[in-house]
Amino acid sequence: MIWFTEYQTKNTGLTVRVKESRRFQSEFQEILLLDTYEYGKMLVLDGAVQTTERDEFIYHEMLAHPALLAHQNPKRVLVIGGGDGGTVREVLKHSTVEEVHLCEIDKMVIEVSKEYLPTISGKLNDGKVTVFVEDGNKFLDERKNYYDVILLDLSDPVGPAEALFKRNFYQKVKASLREDGIMAAQTESPFLQEEYFKTAVQEIKAVFKNSQTYLAFIPTYPAGMWSFTLASDNNDFSTLKDKNISNLNTKYLSDKILNSLFALPKFVSDIIEK
Ligand code: SAM
Repeated sequence: MIWFTEYQTKNTGLTVRVKESRRFQSEFQEILLLDTYEYGKMLVLDGAVQTTERDEFIYHEMLAHPALLAHQNPKRVLVIGGGDGGTVREVLKHSTVEEVHLCEIDKMVIEVSKEYLPTISGKLNDGKVTVFVEDGNKFLDERKNYYDVILLDLSDPVGPAEALFKRNFYQKVKASLREDGIMAAQTESPFLQEEYFKTAVQEIKAVFKNSQTYLAFIPTYPAGMWSFTLASDNNDFSTLKDKNISNLNTKYLSDKILNSLFALPKFVSDIIEK
């Protein structure tokens, strides 16, 4: 019997029983593709679970839709990271979107996802999508005032994604957005990764005039409690609660969740305000 444990902190982890495992080594990280009994196929980078067939819809819906719904007319969208393709798939559900750029540093993540995770990566070959295999930090240097929405679909702030959780990077994101542009970022687990969470949210707040953090329940992420942060200079996200989501065919996001998206448990808002 094979079991895999992701060590989420020094003292706790997520353990799953595995039917079959494949290991790849890229220039940037170790890639594991595990076929698990409970969660279906699971993508693991340097020991950290990135996505699974069973619960991926929650993360991808919740990263993509609030930002796209809050924007009046999102046409040009950039996803940084996200080589599994799940966020791109959700972005393409918005009919106003004309152009989607995906900037993923690791070509092998894209290749492994295309081969083994077709339900997640299936829209990466869509005609509206262009894939760039580049470091997101450098990519933004050449693209100013261009995007309506930028989604940061990054791995944890260690390794290749470390610089992309810092103030200097959020400033680049802001410069690459049009005036009414919106950023949404995954900002880690407030429960088990309090320092990562707090730092990311505070750095975002230091750069953008408006920001709002929200949560989703994601079983395979640390503590099952995950955070996202929306940010913009010219959008206060107040129209979000009235948006119609019936055409998005979501499985997690509902009208009621959207209505109370920014209702945070008290300990979570205390961390941000501390
Ligand atoms: N849902 C995930 C999570 O929160 O664990 C994120 C998934 S996605 C697979 C993360 C991707 O970000 C990885 O494929 C990784 O290669 C990519 N990445 C890390 N650093 C990057 C960088 N500097 N530029 C572009 N992509 C980067």
